[in-house]
Amino acid sequence: MTRYVRVCTAVALLGAALAGCGDGRPAPASAASAPTSASASPAPAGSTPASGSPAVKGPPTLAPGADGLTPVFVRGAKAAGKTVALTFDADMTADQGPRAAEGERFDNPSLIALLRRLDVPSTVFMTGRWAEEYPTQAKAIGTDPLFEIANHSYSHYAFTADCYGLPVVGKERMADDVRRAFAAFKTAGARNVVPYFRFPGGCYDDTARRALAPAGVTAVQWDVVSGDAFATDADAVAAQVLAGVRPGSLVVMHCTRSAAPVTEDAVRQIVPELRKRGYRFVKVSELMKP
Ligand SMILES: [Zn+2]
Repeated sequence: MTRYVRVCTAVALLGAALAGCGDGRPAPASAASAPTSASASPAPAGSTPASGSPAVKGPPTLAPGADGLTPVFVRGAKAAGKTVALTFDADMTADQGPRAAEGERFDNPSLIALLRRLDVPSTVFMTGRWAEEYPTQAKAIGTDPLFEIANHSYSHYAFTADCYGLPVVGKERMADDVRRAFAAFKTAGARNVVPYFRFPGGCYDDTARRALAPAGVTAVQWDVVSGDAFATDADAVAAQVLAGVRPGSLVVMHCTRSAAPVTEDAVRQIVPELRKRGYRFVKVSELMKP
């Protein structure tokens, strides 16, 4: 973990965008009081589903917290038994276009192909910028019932002031940034879009939760850090996940070769082993069911 943070810091010092950094540390303190088990409820009265997100008979969401704060989901209820949700952040920051143009790959199609081959339902937290760069893949993922696409912001800018050196989105622009990502998914042709949002870097506070309330999303964190961002040892990533998973766990991984090159190899180990232990893979929307 220490090494992970150090790597991210070094990258920040180089001025590079921190795709995926921040997933190596525990959720911020404010998450401690957040709801940790599913208590599904209809969308809050008066909330407007974000553009491109499902309306009416959508997936379960959590009720807003006190003062209408955006709710935060961390893991499923233990009563759900041996279920586990693998989630993959498809990171691309708004200013990484030139790097993509030079050939850097922020996608990971062979990881998606592996998940299909292994028949692992998964939730992909996609940035709007990623969907714009890879619209064909965004559509393919977003029209395959095996997957659901959740929102990882448009720009992958931080929603708090101090988040691994990421550029910061102002609070007055937070809800719009999220809506812009939903719009990008819709433009790409994705349909399996759920009203869930993962804060870039996992960084959030009450100000961000309040600013996001108009977007009507449920924030989704995790209880198992895979450590796949900038990892070079797939065995170590797999071992960390296998050691951390409990009934109802939510695992954070990445779908970008650029910042997470060994994720596919790790998944190849993780999936059969967890199945051997009796686990069933579900999407976040199923994990959130009461
Ligand atoms: Zn990310």
